[in-house]
Amino acid sequence: MIVVMKPDSRDTDIKNICSILESLGLGVHISKGTERTIIGVIGDKRLLKDIPIDLMPGVEKLVPIVEPYKLASKSFHPEPSIIDINGVKIGSREIVLMAGPCAVESHEQVMEAALAVKRSGAKFLRGGAFKPRTSPYSFQGLEEEGLKILKEARDAAGLLIISEVTSEKSLEIAEKYVDMVQVGARNAQNFQLLREIGRSKKPVLYKRGPSTTIEEWLNAAEYIMSEGNYNVVLCERGIRTFENATRNTLDISAVPVIKSLSHLPIIVDPSHATGKSQYVQPLSKAAIAAGADGLIIEVHPNPMCALSDASQQITPADFDILCRDISKIAPIVGREFIYGGKLN
Ligand code: PEP
Ligand code: MN
Repeated sequence: MIVVMKPDSRDTDIKNICSILESLGLGVHISKGTERTIIGVIGDKRLLKDIPIDLMPGVEKLVPIVEPYKLASKSFHPEPSIIDINGVKIGSREIVLMAGPCAVESHEQVMEAALAVKRSGAKFLRGGAFKPRTSPYSFQGLEEEGLKILKEARDAAGLLIISEVTSEKSLEIAEKYVDMVQVGARNAQNFQLLREIGRSKKPVLYKRGPSTTIEEWLNAAEYIMSEGNYNVVLCERGIRTFENATRNTLDISAVPVIKSLSHLPIIVDPSHATGKSQYVQPLSKAAIAAGADGLIIEVHPNPMCALSDASQQITPADFDILCRDISKIAPIVGREFIYGGKLN
């Protein structure tokens, strides 16, 4: 349920209502909009049956949240959320690019990728250290050693770092190194892991599962948020369809649909969506034109020799061209992307 306050309500009215709700054991989430404040109420609303909140000073009306997901819904938080990760604001006017190799393979590989993507304008370096591979015989990642390499590149290039976690154990390790954790498609409905991430409070890039509907995806995001972590950024990375010309089918419609249902930022991963490097640039541009808040792109200094996802990783030179193009598209859709970045 949400409590919609009158435009002229006073701070004391808001405080008063919050303390009544909290004294009943209900959670409150205040959202101050340009015109009015709304208070999201979390918990069993039957606790309020004898308390006429709607008659209290400053209250305009009570509105039930009809969606099965509450905290992730737009009714709960009508203004778009901006997730601030050490000064990089995802969901703001600025388009945020995350780029780097599929997997951390060596110090040299990561350093080369980091310096290149930073020079083109990326704000985050990506790189998998715990790799959830389709086959148990494929390269599984360098684990903590890989995170140490990412951290060195972070400091050398002046980038933030993001890396995937696949279990509670890997979350515990990764938290010490990364600015943002990633939950991959394969764990999109691993509710135990999602709850753990909710308790950890680390900003999270939460990817859509290849077979999850948008409603299932938002419900699963609710698992993270209901544990108190609101620093959630969604990521569309392609879904499984009958089409096999590409690895997955990028559901570009998920971008405006999420924007209409949720306040959470959404970015797009064109690399895993297509599985083919030649389609990464056009899909990246389409994603920005459709309103995505950013992109996460696999960039490898030498894609042909990559230990994982060799066919979809693009070169630093192609990433640079893409960044230049995005800086031109962004203003057309009311956004900004600054091409080029100074090294530390
Ligand atoms: C990844 O980003 O490294 C990855 C494995 O992607 P996804 O979970 O989308 O397949
Ligand atoms: Mn990959």
